[in-house]
Amino acid sequence: MSFKPTVIVIGGSFAGIGVAKALLAELPSAKVLLINPSEKVFFNIAAPRIFAKPTVFKPSQYLFDIKAAFRGYRSEAFEIVKDYASAIDTSAKTATTQGGAILHYDQLVIASGTTTASATGTDSTIVPFKTTNTGDIEDLIQPAQEAIANAKSILVIGGGPVGVEFAGELGERAGLRVTLVTQSDRLLLSLKASASKAARALLEKNEVKVRTNCKVVHSTQDPETKVWTATLDSGDTITADLCISTTGVLPNNSFIPTNILSKDGWVKVDATFKVMSEGDAAVTSVYAVGDITIHTPRLASVIPEQIPIVIANIKADITGRGARPTYKPKTSLTMMVPIGKSGGTGQIFSWVPWSWLVAKTKGKDFFISMAAGILGTK
Ligand SMILES: Cc1cc2nc3c(=O)[nH]c(=O)nc-3n(C[C@H](O)[C@H](O)[C@H](O)COP(=O)(O)OP(=O)(O)OC[C@H]3O[C@@H](n4cnc5c(N)ncnc54)[C@H](O)[C@@H]3O)c2cc1C
Repeated sequence: MSFKPTVIVIGGSFAGIGVAKALLAELPSAKVLLINPSEKVFFNIAAPRIFAKPTVFKPSQYLFDIKAAFRGYRSEAFEIVKDYASAIDTSAKTATTQGGAILHYDQLVIASGTTTASATGTDSTIVPFKTTNTGDIEDLIQPAQEAIANAKSILVIGGGPVGVEFAGELGERAGLRVTLVTQSDRLLLSLKASASKAARALLEKNEVKVRTNCKVVHSTQDPETKVWTATLDSGDTITADLCISTTGVLPNNSFIPTNILSKDGWVKVDATFKVMSEGDAAVTSVYAVGDITIHTPRLASVIPEQIPIVIANIKADITGRGARPTYKPKTSLTMMVPIGKSGGTGQIFSWVPWSWLVAKTKGKDFFISMAAGILGTK
């Protein structure tokens, strides 16, 4: 009987779905198990508008059935395990789930991505900008939309792309007081200074109050009045109906052995995406891809470049033949940051695009019309 390798993919989003589909196409003899806590995948690129303007898009435009990506594959070839990986053992070659299943793999791909402080409600109103670690994402979106729709004042913490896009969308709602605070001296720190200036001007045009050099030390919600108070490092406080953190992303790594994590908690990989242990020794048959790895920038747009490299290397492991391509993270930057429906900024290589161009491209619908194609669930 011919060898039928089992490949387990942990995480069913941009990276995990893409890898699982490519594995099935490239390795017809393999059995692929995709472990993900939800049967739905969230097109979170449009999250700033989805949460700020809940009636603009329908849930069917941003929540997709993961199964749809695998139509036509029989259960001998592909299965979704709706569960949460709680441990992996790279010596025994097993992944254990919260539900108690112990699954054997021949090859493992970690694609567990990231979460945000707001998704977990850490010092923040719960707003699932990313799929959370447990439960169904769709149950979490609607309460966040309702809370935002009912608020009269919102404090947005973080002046990166998500904070700026979100404040831009909120700023278009009449009567809502929006404050955006950032600890740095300008918005969009990773972009050119002229983009920061443009972002600030567009936000202020819509009466969003922008405060730079303002670090929030902690924020708490009064259990009775439900009012949030954010305490700044200066000792000042800001109160608002909601306090929503948009600062950075956190690795979904609770199930990952520490010997394969960097000191910041990202999975160490080499240029083939093979996972590395202490002393840079490769861990046999374990790969990682997408946001969870040490590679930056952590963007959905770079994942399609990573997937073929992982697949070719897994194929070479299994068949003992074929090229082993390597990955070079991009050093140039392309980013569009819509600010409301009619403006925005960003950077394309070293050029800061015109506001109208950002509005006409990403600002039109946050790429939601292409979501199923991007996620591979079409
Ligand atoms: C609001 C927002 C807007 C963004 N906009 C853009 C943009 O415009 N352009 C762009 O290129 N990028 C954007 N990004 C970044 C983009 O979302 C990420 O790069 C992308 O989601 C990474 O995909 P991933 O598959 O690696 O991980 P994720 O999308 O984080 O998915 C990880 C998956 O793994 C699952 N998982 C986690 N732990 C476990 C476990 N233990 N067991 C099983 N499953 C698990 C999660 O539930 C999730 O389904 C944005 C990010 C945010 C937060």
